[in-house]
Amino acid sequence: RLRNSPLTRAARRPPEDAPFMFRKVLVANRGEIALRVIRACRDLGVEVAVVYSEADKDAPYLKLADQAVCIGPAVATESYLKMPRIIAAAEGVDADAIHPGFGFLSENSRFAQMCRENGFEFIGPSAEAMNKLGDKARSKEVAKAANVPTVPGSDGLVESEKEALDFARKVGYPVLIKASAGGGGKGMRQAWDDDGLVKGLSAARTEAEAAFKDGSVFLEKYLDRPRHVEVQLLGDKHGNVVHLFERDCTLQRRHQKLVEESPAPNLPDKVRIAMCESAVRLAKAAGYYSAGTCEFLVDRDHKFYFIEVNARIQVEHPVTELVTGVDLIREQIRVAAGEKLPFEQKDIVHRGAAIEVRVNAENVDKDFQPSPGVVTTWRPPGGPGVRLDTHVVTGYRVPPNYDSMVAKLLVYQPTRAEAFAVMRRALREFVVEGIHTTLPIHRRIFECPEFIAGEVDTTFIEREFLKRG
Ligand code: ADP
Repeated sequence: RLRNSPLTRAARRPPEDAPFMFRKVLVANRGEIALRVIRACRDLGVEVAVVYSEADKDAPYLKLADQAVCIGPAVATESYLKMPRIIAAAEGVDADAIHPGFGFLSENSRFAQMCRENGFEFIGPSAEAMNKLGDKARSKEVAKAANVPTVPGSDGLVESEKEALDFARKVGYPVLIKASAGGGGKGMRQAWDDDGLVKGLSAARTEAEAAFKDGSVFLEKYLDRPRHVEVQLLGDKHGNVVHLFERDCTLQRRHQKLVEESPAPNLPDKVRIAMCESAVRLAKAAGYYSAGTCEFLVDRDHKFYFIEVNARIQVEHPVTELVTGVDLIREQIRVAAGEKLPFEQKDIVHRGAAIEVRVNAENVDKDFQPSPGVVTTWRPPGGPGVRLDTHVVTGYRVPPNYDSMVAKLLVYQPTRAEAFAVMRRALREFVVEGIHTTLPIHRRIFECPEFIAGEVDTTFIEREFLKRG
């Protein structure tokens, strides 16, 4: 037991500035992102262990890790969200770092803290930076102080109905009620008049309390048909922060992204650069390191407004990997080990066009209802310009307990038009049987004239596209 304790783990670390790499990383996640992190560890020559719940016990990616540790039953609160179980698993395999992936505990600063207190490096930002930026209302304060434009909103949290009504009268309807701890569109409500605002306030509070155990809300002006553009950031523990350009994630359904691409089409270079520089300023102001994303909304006049920071690696990170050639997970692991970024801002070059579609196990004809079950046929696309990140194989059973994403299909080409052609080809090749997927809707999206022209906004899919039948 002596070998395996916080003290001995600390002693394994060499003195400041000497090269250091983890011996073993524990992946505290499942599915596609667990496999993505396993692959990055292999590429770095680092041993890797992975946790799993009983629902995932037969998942084929578990065999690709050096060790797999069962951490409990299917229900996430008893497994993937159960912090002491994950710490115990890390002790059991004698890991020296924990990668949280996305979702689950990835943005939980108490978990980051707990990892470090137990002698495991948390592969993500510091708990302090997470506290500053993970909370939407607080991060807007940091943004304002760093001279980054924000959506007009209430000054911090809204405590009373009167405060909310006063704000709405000042900026005018519609307004958006947002949960400060929010994510995945939860705790968000539009209000078009006083009555809707009062009702929305209590509904948003209740929803946020249930989802995040934090019912605090704030208000924002509801922007009319904006685009969603975000900036990828990467920082090290020595104060260096770079951006890796932008991703356009405008195509959404119920505030959830369907397709992501880079570069953002029809966005003047001046705006892209100003946005990227704003994101770096914000990260530096918060002492941020590791990978992170700064999200903005862009209005019709190309004015951009900060909305939130995602203090984790995101689903759509491979889009940026394709256009910059930087392996973000690998760099995330390196900077967690204390390495300096191997490049400066001027070394990062954006080339070509990349697009990602999220393939979810959902029935698009039944209001996108989850469609778990056994995949009887899985025939993935391939060929030039195609990257598929997935943990699924023929015979895999998609469990009903978790997020429905089964694959991320990406293409990379010199131009956006060529990328669209390759995406159409790949979507056509992709055959999945046994479960419903969102592939049919993606095939239609890539024929949609407004999307092809780069003239969509965040409500386009629901407002127009889905009604076309
Ligand atoms: P979550 O963290 O729950 O995903 P975000 O703050 O990232 O919430 O917002 C998700 C999406 O909601 C955005 O991409 C955008 O489509 C929409 N949205 C958020 N804030 C506004 C706003 N002030 N006006 C209009 N749409 C908004």
